Amino acid sequence: MDGRRGAADPAAVVRAAAAAVELTGLDRAICECRACPRLVAWREEVAATRRAAFRDQEYWGRPVPGFGPPDAAIGVLGLAPAAHGGNRTGRVFTGDRSGDVLFAALYRAGLANQPSSVDSDDGLELTGTRIFAAVRCAPPGNAPTPAERDTCAPWLHRELELLRPTLRVVVALGAFAWAAYWPALRAVYGVPVPTPRPAFGHAALWSGPAGTPALLGCYHVSQQNTFTGRLTPAMLDDVLAQAVTLAGTLSG
Ligand code: SF4
Repeated sequence: MDGRRGAADPAAVVRAAAAAVELTGLDRAICECRACPRLVAWREEVAATRRAAFRDQEYWGRPVPGFGPPDAAIGVLGLAPAAHGGNRTGRVFTGDRSGDVLFAALYRAGLANQPSSVDSDDGLELTGTRIFAAVRCAPPGNAPTPAERDTCAPWLHRELELLRPTLRVVVALGAFAWAAYWPALRAVYGVPVPTPRPAFGHAALWSGPAGTPALLGCYHVSQQNTFTGRLTPAMLDDVLAQAVTLAGTLSG
């Protein structure tokens, strides 16, 4: 235990998320969260033991907040931070192979000022785009439990609420993120979840009532997908180009 105070159980997450009136405060509150005992233990154990290649680095070892401007029109929704990526650097998708692929594509799409994201102090800025995850702590095996997903959901929902004035499209990276959007749709926008739920697929598009962001599916930028060619740079470029078109307000 490090003595930091933060949300310590699911009810406290709900209260703390609701109390955040702007993204900076939300990010701060997320970084203090300790509501999932298994994930707190894991993120801190990984930070203490480290991977050999990063032995000389101090790991973040805490929840990873969203990254990007508060007036984003495009949201990129991932699963959770990687143990030696976001959990090491403190910035979502930063410092691992998945992030290498994602940020290079964001740069090609005109949504980032540089093609790589190596640490939280590297000068990266996003244009009209905010990246966040359904679960904010690195889970063992990249697999949060349903209870952990649900405990973390109020952070995502509040982030979407605060982005609501400008957000036009959410790009869901993978089936987990796609599934996490439906409770958010109900909680944030008051829109009933469609039945049957639209199936996830690469470039799958769901458009809801006016005033709700479109949901655009994209295969996850995981090494498993990018090394095998299931997701190619061209496929990612096409999805981001579609996101830019749906966002409408970006000039690229
Ligand atoms: S996963 Fe989410 S709710 Fe659970 S401890 Fe991390 S930030 Fe808190």
